[in-house]
Amino acid sequence: MIISESIRETREQVKEWKRQGLRVGFVPTMGYLHEGHRSLMEAARKENDRVAVSIFVNPIQFGPNEDFASYPRDMEKDAALCEDAGVDLVFHPDAGEMYGEGFSTYVDMEGLTKELCGKSRPVHFRGVQTVVCKLFHIIPADRAYFGQKDAQQLAVIKKMVRDLGMDIEIVGCPIVREPDGLAKSSRNTYLNAEERQAALVLDRSLAAGRKLVEAGERDALKIKECIAGEIGKEKLAKTDYVEIVDFADITPIENLEDAKNGEILCAIAVYIGKTRLIDNFIYRISECR
Ligand code: AMP
Repeated sequence: MIISESIRETREQVKEWKRQGLRVGFVPTMGYLHEGHRSLMEAARKENDRVAVSIFVNPIQFGPNEDFASYPRDMEKDAALCEDAGVDLVFHPDAGEMYGEGFSTYVDMEGLTKELCGKSRPVHFRGVQTVVCKLFHIIPADRAYFGQKDAQQLAVIKKMVRDLGMDIEIVGCPIVREPDGLAKSSRNTYLNAEERQAALVLDRSLAAGRKLVEAGERDALKIKECIAGEIGKEKLAKTDYVEIVDFADITPIENLEDAKNGEILCAIAVYIGKTRLIDNFIYRISECR
């Protein structure tokens, strides 16, 4: 497995694979890898001849009061997980390599990035799109793999690729959870024992909302109230948002039947103590119209 901190070296390696006619799968991450990341690598491994992973805690997607400095990092453990998952190349640049002096070009999107997480994290998606766009140029892969855990991010990246005519296929992968239901996240390490227990409210409240949908409820407000009510029962939890949007364009929806492609996204962000966690489910209401 190659580990490279250099843009030039990484690009040369991937281009060499392309010259040999090999298909390349790419998994962008911020490291501190877990089974969720590993599932993306395994999907990439199955569908491609070579797999590249990037590990980069991207400073420009964090707001000034967010956790960039404290975000967990463990390159040694990450490299071992990548090696074990059959990864061929790990791109691990420092911030100077990615954002050299005078860096001033950004990728931004209207609409979709202003909803859900965009409301409490106004610079987040601009930072994500910029780094992913740059990574796609450094690693000209055939396919890139993203988790549904960050469903809005997945929708944003798909739209960016469509809008800008980028030559890469975006593959979405299901959420990987702990045995007790908590979605795996690098940020779960921030939780103490009591908070870890309290964090189960995310999965529990979504399950209650999903049950309503499955029983035929189509009024988004009623479903959101049910979920918010469940979160309210947990004293360490504070709701950032509970939203139901049309998954086609991440716009708010009142009646679930109105989803343009028949799919809704029910997404929540909840503070457990100081830690902000997200979770969601996607539900297919009807066949595409
Ligand atoms: P991150 O390192 O948190 O930026 O995540 C890198 C990629 O892994 C993103 O596409 C995430 O959506 C994905 N990911 C993170 N956690 C999970 C999970 N629990 N299940 C599936 N994918 C995940």
